[in-house]
Amino acid sequence: MASKVYFVDFRIENKKSLLDKLEKLLAPFEISKKFRKDALVAIKIHFGELGNLAYLRPQWAARLAQILKKADLKPFLTDTNTLYKGSRSDAVVHLETAVRNGFDFAVVGAPLIIADGLRGNTYERIELDLPVLKEFYVAKEIYRADGLIALTHFKGHELSGFGGVIKNIGMGCAARKGKLQQHSTIAPKVNKKQCIGCGSCLEYCPVGAPEWVEGGKKKRMRINEKKCIGCGECIAVCPQGAIKVQWNEQAIPFMKKMAEYACAVLSNKAGRAIFISFVQNVSPACDCYHFNDYPIVRDIGILASEDPVAIDQAAVELVNAEPTLPGAKVTADPGEDKFRALYPEIDWSVQLKHAEEIGLGSREYELVHL
Ligand code: SF4
Ligand code: SF4
Repeated sequence: MASKVYFVDFRIENKKSLLDKLEKLLAPFEISKKFRKDALVAIKIHFGELGNLAYLRPQWAARLAQILKKADLKPFLTDTNTLYKGSRSDAVVHLETAVRNGFDFAVVGAPLIIADGLRGNTYERIELDLPVLKEFYVAKEIYRADGLIALTHFKGHELSGFGGVIKNIGMGCAARKGKLQQHSTIAPKVNKKQCIGCGSCLEYCPVGAPEWVEGGKKKRMRINEKKCIGCGECIAVCPQGAIKVQWNEQAIPFMKKMAEYACAVLSNKAGRAIFISFVQNVSPACDCYHFNDYPIVRDIGILASEDPVAIDQAAVELVNAEPTLPGAKVTADPGEDKFRALYPEIDWSVQLKHAEEIGLGSREYELVHL
């Protein structure tokens, strides 16, 4: 059955702020009926890596928080720590980065909570019998929230062709162990040149997998792959950034795992999740980089749906119906696949097909212009 995907464009009406369109977009969901009074509602958003300017403006989150508060709900803004070492890899630097990127309480009017804790190891372990994975590590505070509204910036992505709602939920709501599970099939490795032998990885590893390397002039560590359980804790605590994720997972299993993770994240949110996707500033690559390239197409509009698959399918098709902008990274005509033009090796449809097969949603949709 076709799922409804609501759409507003970026043209203003009667000199009203674009932010008012968010209210229009959310009206069909009857928020005050959807969530019980005083429900803790997680607004999942990407606070942006420092230096990247393609992430969503905090004013959108602020307006959403205002709408939720008016409906007697308790919203909070949330994201999870990154797998790699960067400006969002633990809760302290993550919150600092969020504030520097404009997500201050004074701006957004809601508290910020890093959903997988100080070092990304606060999770709920979920068991689901899905084709690729059977166990999942979901950021605890997202899992425990009464409701979820995901604000997603739709853009290109080097591993999945595009990054949309499925990615925001599947990867973005996974704790570090879950992110490592999606990105890699082997234990992280120590770069021996960077290691200063401080021992922090051994201190924090739950299974004692880091081992001292015998001999040599300086003390250094290596990871015993047989012992490692892939929690990713050592990556976060190494002061040198010497412990490297082996980004070896191939695109197809990566996309399937991501879709399965989205199922796990949403497994206790039936009827209590809404997905909003901004098809705006469609940059070629992920917002996790400290840079962003010029968009590939014009700003198209904002989508909202209760179906994470339908909304991503609609966003892809809206982008692909456009011509690329002059000066963009790729050149393609209306109707041509912009994401295959960016990443010819990546079949982005895998994430949508797999998501549909495992019951996450439907690729058939009805676009409702509001
Ligand atoms: S990933 Fe986790 S289990 Fe493996 S070495 Fe690092 S801390 Fe230990
Ligand atoms: S935490 Fe990093 S620098 Fe310290 S011993 Fe482990 S790998 Fe080496």
